[in-house]
Amino acid sequence: MIGLGDIEKRFGDNLVLKGVSVAIAEGSVTALVGPSGGGKSTLLRCINLLELPTSGTVRIGEDTLAFGPGHKVATRDIQRLRRQTGMVFQNFQLFPHRTAVENVMESLTVVLKWPQARARERAMSLLEKVGMAHKADAWPATLSGGQQQRVAIARALAPSPKVLLCDEPTSALDPELAQEVVDVLGKLASEGTTMVMATHDLRLASKIAREVVFLDAGVVVETGTAEQVFGNPQRERTKRFIATLR
Ligand code: ATP
Ligand code: MG
Repeated sequence: MIGLGDIEKRFGDNLVLKGVSVAIAEGSVTALVGPSGGGKSTLLRCINLLELPTSGTVRIGEDTLAFGPGHKVATRDIQRLRRQTGMVFQNFQLFPHRTAVENVMESLTVVLKWPQARARERAMSLLEKVGMAHKADAWPATLSGGQQQRVAIARALAPSPKVLLCDEPTSALDPELAQEVVDVLGKLASEGTTMVMATHDLRLASKIAREVVFLDAGVVVETGTAEQVFGNPQRERTKRFIATLR
């Protein structure tokens, strides 16, 4: 299980997350939706500890870290937790001077110290899974946005993370290229990959998310299944927001 307990995140005077608790079941996909500035990216970055929560707990599997006054969290513990996550960004962020397959191999050879041959073998099987094996030796700049994002997904999955975090994975893409990425994420979801995804893309969210968390101004306003939250939202705030997406 992935769990966030009463997470607060403050940037200076700005309290961006105001006590957010979310439980994510293993093998399920959770979509974070809500208005711009509501804290979706910050919440994702608190799961992999790219941002450290001001207070609250982050649990990944059996590993829990507590933040806040009186808790001193060691860098080693942060790295251990972070290594159980993989992240996919809106703008892909592939290493430009590495080929597609080298991008996927990087964490295996550099962090996990796998031998090249073994890392290449795993990287190729992941590129196969995302439909990019034929571009293994291509440079990122020669790939379309949808292709780059599929390589980025393979890279994030390489060290077998417990959870794949995706921040607006399709929003930099034209609809056709976004569809390629939706298809890949849908396939991963059906194979039981645990995912948490911030998205404005209702089609993506309703296609692959089981759970939806609606976050507004740093507060969880409503959670439920995709059918419930998109089809029959309970709160006025959620209704208004869902109406803007259609
Ligand atoms: P969007 O839908 O536009 O991506 P979001 O829901 O992902 O929005 P966040 O990016 O998490 O929202 O931002 C939430 C709030 O936190 C905003 O007010 C933003 O300005 C602030 N914020 C985010 N990161 C930082 C930072 N590193 N330093 C200061 N403020 C930040
Ligand atoms: Mg964001």
